[in-house]
Parts: sequence; structure tokens; C-alpha cells
Amino acid sequence: MITSLQSERIMTKSGPSGGRLVRLSDDKEPEKIGFIQCVGTRNKEHNYCSTVCCMHATKEAILAKENLPEIEIKIFTLDMRAYGKGFEELYQKAKNVYRIDYVRSRPSFIEEDPETKDLIVTYVSENGKLVKENFQVIVLSMEFIAPKTTKRDSQIYEIELNEHGFIETTDFKPLNTSRDGIFVCGSFSEPKDIPDSITEGSGTSALASALLADQKGSLIEKKRYPAQMEIDYENPRIGVILCHCGNEISKVVKMAELVKFIRTISDVVVVENEFYACSPQIEKKIEYMITQYNMNRLVVAACSPRTHAPLFKEILRDIGINHNMVGVVNLREQCSWVHYSSPYKATQKAMSLIQMAVAKIKKAKPLLENYAGINPRALIIGGGIAEMVVALNLAEQGHPVTLIEKGHDLGGHLKKIVFTLSGDDPQKLLFNLREKIISNTNIEVLVNSEVTDVKGYVGNFQSKVVIKKPGEKEDIRKIIHGVTIIATMPILSDSI
Ligand SMILES: Cc1cc2nc3c(=O)[nH]c(=O)nc-3n(C[C@H](O)[C@H](O)[C@H](O)COP(=O)(O)OP(=O)(O)OC[C@H]3O[C@@H](n4cnc5c(N)ncnc54)[C@H](O)[C@@H]3O)c2cc1C
Ligand code: SF4
Ligand code: SF4
Repeated sequence: MITSLQSERIMTKSGPSGGRLVRLSDDKEPEKIGFIQCVGTRNKEHNYCSTVCCMHATKEAILAKENLPEIEIKIFTLDMRAYGKGFEELYQKAKNVYRIDYVRSRPSFIEEDPETKDLIVTYVSENGKLVKENFQVIVLSMEFIAPKTTKRDSQIYEIELNEHGFIETTDFKPLNTSRDGIFVCGSFSEPKDIPDSITEGSGTSALASALLADQKGSLIEKKRYPAQMEIDYENPRIGVILCHCGNEISKVVKMAELVKFIRTISDVVVVENEFYACSPQIEKKIEYMITQYNMNRLVVAACSPRTHAPLFKEILRDIGINHNMVGVVNLREQCSWVHYSSPYKATQKAMSLIQMAVAKIKKAKPLLENYAGINPRALIIGGGIAEMVVALNLAEQGHPVTLIEKGHDLGGHLKKIVFTLSGDDPQKLLFNLREKIISNTNIEVLVNSEVTDVKGYVGNFQSKVVIKKPGEKEDIRKIIHGVTIIATMPILSDSI
């Protein structure tokens, strides 16, 4: 019997069994796994939902199926809380594609079979029958509780805790603690998943930036890079790093075949396998490839260049190689994830993508980097609660803001909402926010307005705004701005 965190570790490449799904007591692959949900939560002691465990059990179950396709999985739930973006879809996929069985029941007893060491679970099935069923592994989806140290921390920082021992916040100020200037994000205020924790992380940094606005930029030190090495860029000598991403890539793409293939591509002088190419030691590996093989160009076959190309470019600059000498191939999203059920095709596609990346990097030339100025103005489209909060925060950080609303007043849907579940007053929130926005000299509000054209690029956009005042001729404004924030909400369906 293991906890959800132990199950996560077992299925990780760097875990105790190297990513193989086994029962740790006898190193055998299980034929059947059961997940028991809401363990230690939604009870008298912790009468809240831990928010994350319905979905992380679903994720673990899918991983288990991918690890051992023949495995049978049952998830014992009280109910299913797939509340986030894409979660319902994943839940349906888990049931219908991966054939994971969700059973609405609370097991009452678990005992061990002394001979086989299997776990015999007693539960009442959905049609009311008492069932005893054998599993090789049971995963307990444990409750998320506030750490023991939270009480001590709350005393040190002089901030209040709520009845569950987490940091006290309010619905309308979820990132503010009871003390001005001390903010909270992530699971410290309540159980939360990674996307929500990240969003809150950005939110707290914006709040802190607003408080520190008059000190902005005062401690900036420009990063210095070493002089670029003397490198013969004329004759391409290409190195390829093949990232396994734990086993996210290697469980589908046949890495040994890929290595064999890459070695046949002309001008490739070295191929290296890495479990995690974005780990800190990769810099040493790249240095080794340069000194040992005289490599002057690099292809990293890993994940999305959108997230990781800047990292590899930066590593090259830190070593003293021009940042344009690296290409990133997306084996994870474009091969192993999308072609999960066709390893052969995924491997063939990986070969093609790498071959193309090698051909492209062969022609790469060292580039000089130039910086274009950034216009500090933000254009915010929509005048609802999200846009008003953003506008105010950016203005408090010292940025000029243009807020565009197509209606005749600020407020959006909030105008129609008069109470919340916890009893807060949305109309008071709207009134206070509107007052602050109207009196802030950094914010220009344009109502009855819509953006009809956008030109430019990040840091320097030009937008055309049409202002339609009833009974008057249309007014057209050109706004020059560095960023655009769109937060308009679709209208509610009439069928509701
Ligand atoms: C088994 C399991 C599976 C999960 N699966 C998913 C998933 O699939 N998807 C998902 O979105 N979310 C998942 N989550 C939730 C996810 O882990 C959390 O949302 C996320 O880690 C919260 O991040 P955090 O930074 O708020 O807290 P943490 O990650 O806990 O970070 C807090 C850090 O603060 C440090 N710290 C604590 N006290 C102090 C102190 N006094 N001084 C200094 N440092 C301190 C801790 O050591 C820790 O490093 C899962 C959680 C678990 C337990
Ligand atoms: S998220 Fe699901 S498993 Fe976790 S406490 Fe809530 S209902 Fe139970
Ligand atoms: S570089 Fe990308 S693919 Fe490789 S370990 Fe890091 S996240 Fe995974």
C-alpha cells in the first residue's frame, strides 16, 4: 500500500525502480491497481476537498496504463472533481480510451493475503453488493494539509490562519494575507494544482512590483557574457543531444534506433543521450562536446523550442559560442505524446525532424543580437473585473494603460452579480475598483470602443480603435503600446 506521492516517484525515471511500475516489496509488475480517493479529507477533521487528487489519480492511472498496457485499474471515488480546463476531457479519455474503471464507493476494509501479499479490498459496489477484490498495489490519494510549521510561520510573519490551518485570505483578495505587504501564493493558502500555483505566483509578483514601483530597475546589473570563442564556423561539426525527458520521450521513441540513424547523417560528429537535457549539468556536457569533438553547432532533440530554446541559447552564450548555433527539435510534444500508440511512426518522424534540424543548423551563421526599444504602454481589451484588476496593477507599477470597453461602462458581467457564496459584495468591489481606475492618472478608459486593427510585434504594437458614441460620428484613435492583454469573456448561452 503506497501513497500518491510514492506512486508518482515509482513511475519516475529517477525513482527507485528506474520508472518501472513494480510492487516494491517483491519487484513484481502488478496486474491490478486500486486507487482510494479522499483519504484523510472531506471528513470531520479535514472537511474540505484537496482539489488536486481526483486528477492526479487519473494522471497516475494513465501513466500506469502506459507503463503496463494490460494492467487493470480501479479508482474508488466519492465523486469526481474534474473542474479545470481540459480536465473533464482527460477524465473521459481515462474511462473510454484507457479503460480505467471509476467506482463510486468508499472501501471499508483492506487486508493482506499472507501468501500472495495481495491486498483484499472490501467495498460495496454501485449496485449494492458487498465485494471482496484482490489488488497487487493500492494507492491512497492522501489529503493535503497545512504543514506543521505553518502555525510557527504565521506567528513570525504576524499573519492570520484560517480554521484549516492555511493562510487566511478573502475571495476578492486571494493573494493578500491579513498583513499589508505580505502576500501568499500556491498551496500555502489552500490545496492547489500547478497551473493555479503558477498563476498565483505571477499575481503576487505583480502585487509586490506595484508596492516597489518607485524602486523599479534600481538594482539591475547587466549580465556579462564571456568573449566568443575562436570557432571555425565554416566547416560544420554538429553535435546532437537526445533527451529522454525521464522516459516521456524514450517510452515511445526508439532511442537506440534514433542514435544509429543520426550517426549516419553527414557532419554529425557526436550524439549524446541525456535523461534530462534541461538539468544544470548539461552545460558541462556541451563544453565536453566542444573540446572533445571540436563541435561548432548543436541540435537538441527534446521538447518545445518555445520553452527550452532560450535555455540552450543562453548556455551557448555562457560558454562563449554564438547563440544562433543551436536548433531545438520537439520530440516530446510532436512525437512521443501525439503518436503515443505508434512507436514506429513516432521514431520515423523523430528521424525526419532531426534530419531537418541538422540540415538547417548546417547553414546557421553567427548572429549579432540587437535590442529594440519597448513601449511601456499596455492596451487592455475589455472592461470587466479581470481587465480592471490588471489595469490598476499595471498603472500602480508605473505603466500607462489604455482600457478599451465596447459597452458604455466598466464592469462587464460583474455588474449583474450581486452576491457570492461566501457573502462578499461584488457591487462594492466594482464600485471601489471603478473609482480607483477613474482617479488613476496612468489609466485612460475608452468606452463604446473596439479594436479594429493591430500591427507590430512584441514591445511595439500599433492598434486602431474605433470609438462609437451614440448619435455622434465615429472617432478613430491610433494607440501605440508594448503589450496587449485580451480578457473578454464569451457571452452566456441563451439556453441557460
Ligand atoms: C502526489 C501529488 C501529485 C500531484 N500531481 C499534480 C499534477 O499532476 N498536476 C498538478 O497540477 N498538480 C499536482 N500536484 C500538486 C502540486 O504538487 C502543487 O500544486 C504544487 O507543487 C504547489 O507548489 P507550491 O510552490 O505552492 O508548494 P511546494 O511545491 O510545496 O513548494 C514549497 C517550498 O517551500 C519550502 N518551504 C516550506 N517551508 C519553508 C520555510 N519556512 N522557509 C523556506 N522554505 C520553506 C518547501 O521545502 C518547498 O520547497 C500534486 C501533488 C502531489 C502531492
Ligand atoms: S480532489 Fe477528489 S480525491 Fe481529492 S479530496 Fe477532492 S474529491 Fe477527494
Ligand atoms: S529539455 Fe525538455 S524534454 Fe528534456 S528533460 Fe527538459 S523538459 Fe524534458
